[in-house]
This record gives sequence, structure tokens and C-alpha cells, in this order.
Amino acid sequence: MRPTVLCFSGLDPSGGAGLQADIESIGAAGAHAAVACTAITVQDSQQVFGFEPVSSELLRAQGLAVLNDLPVKAIKSGMLGTVENIAMMSELFDDGSIAHGTPFVLDPVLVANSGGSLGDKDTLVKAFARLLPHATLITPNTHELRALAGLDDLHDCAKALNDKGVKAVLVKTSHDFTTGDIEQFLYVDGQIVHTSIIERLDGEFHGSGCSLASHIAGRLALGDDLVSAIKHADEWIMRTLKNADVPHPDKPTAQLIPKRFL
Ligand code: PLP
Repeated sequence: MRPTVLCFSGLDPSGGAGLQADIESIGAAGAHAAVACTAITVQDSQQVFGFEPVSSELLRAQGLAVLNDLPVKAIKSGMLGTVENIAMMSELFDDGSIAHGTPFVLDPVLVANSGGSLGDKDTLVKAFARLLPHATLITPNTHELRALAGLDDLHDCAKALNDKGVKAVLVKTSHDFTTGDIEQFLYVDGQIVHTSIIERLDGEFHGSGCSLASHIAGRLALGDDLVSAIKHADEWIMRTLKNADVPHPDKPTAQLIPKRFL
């Protein structure tokens, strides 16, 4: 059986982000995605209209059902939606339900790329303090990185999070500028251990953050080390974004949907 990545993420009915992005991206990496659904969102490819979270008891039961059955070799989290769901995930690590040493990619989703709310930002940031040290890697966008660290400079933010026990932070400058190449750097123990320059593509991609984080988790489940997993995911995401579906060709600012099975 392929190694399993257990994802904790929300349902996006448009299929661009959330648990469908996880399933497709992890499948494309060569692993199997199992998904514990954290919330049902109401959104289209362009904007979020609302969401209803599942209870932390129901989320825990979903997670345990998978953990007790399938060969879970990595964990990925995306939208968790509530403080209770974040606390419950921390408990799965603390009580050993998730085996010690299992790679964990944490995408600290606070708001959608379109700007729509996916939870109460300030309370989620506080709750993340307990979960972050369990992560092998966190993949925040720049808004999330600054919110988590409470600082402005991206390098200071990454170092501050390393100081607070976050093992590795992948920083991408994509949201800070609208032109020019995107810089990406990986901080481990307060030091940059990997950098890359990524071509900026035209348009906004719905679910690109979810897709990248999931693909990295898929590669970690297959046994890659962190830098190699990130390199594979970068190469793959560029291909999926270059071939993205265009739901509204008439609207110049419309979001695009990555084509993940390529
Ligand atoms: N998870 C869910 C359920 C979402 O709906 C979204 C955004 O709409 C995200 C995560 C984050 O998406 P992105 O990868 O665009 O940051």
C-alpha cells in the first residue's frame, strides 16, 4: 500500500482548495491522502461566503479511525477553523495517537487567498502556539507568518518562530509584492538552509498554498528529506499552475484553479 498522509482540512465545494487540493496533490506525489474534515465551507472559486466547523470530538474520531487503520507516514493540516480543533490536534500528538517522529506539515490557514475569513484570526493565532512545536515544517503565507510571529520583517518572523520551537519555516514572498520573482527560503534553527527564486506567474491561484504544503507532505511520507521534498514540490507546483484552469476568462482578476494531476 502507498504510504498515507492524514490531512486535517476543510471542504471547499469549488474543488480548488482544502481537502480536494490535498487529495489531488498527495495523489500526484505518489502517496495516498486520507482526510479528516474540519469544516464545510461555502465558497466558489472566487470568494468565501461562510463555513461551519465540525466538532472537535467528530474530528478526533475521524483522525483516530484513519490512524488505527492505515499506514500513516505523514500528517498535514490546513484550515482547522476553531480553537477546539487546533487543541484537539495538539492532543493527538501529546497523547501519542500520532506516532512520535511522524512528519507533520502545518499550513496555518487563517484567511483565504481571496481574503475571506476561515476562522477568527486572533484566537486561532493564540491557539496555534501549542500546535506549532509539533510541526516538522510550517508553510505560512506572509500574512500568516507576520500574524503568528507578531513582527514585520520576514526573516525576523521566521527566526522568532524557530526560537519558539517551530522546527522549520518555509517563507515565500509571493504575497508581499505583485511583480518580480518570488523568493523562497527555508529557516531551520534560525538559519537559512535552502533558498530558491521562483518565477511569478500572472493571476491568483485558488488553493496553491494547500497544494504546495500537501505535495511536500506526500514526498515526506515517501521518505524524502525536507529540502528534497520542497524541491520536488516546487517543480511540480510550477507545472500545475502553468496549466491552471481558468473559470472566468472574462474577468482579469479571477482566481485560477491549479491542475494538479499532471
Ligand atoms: N482550506 C480551505 C478549506 C480553504 O477554503 C482555503 C481557501 O479558500 C484554504 C484552505 C487556503 O487556500 P490557499 O491554498 O489558497 O491558501
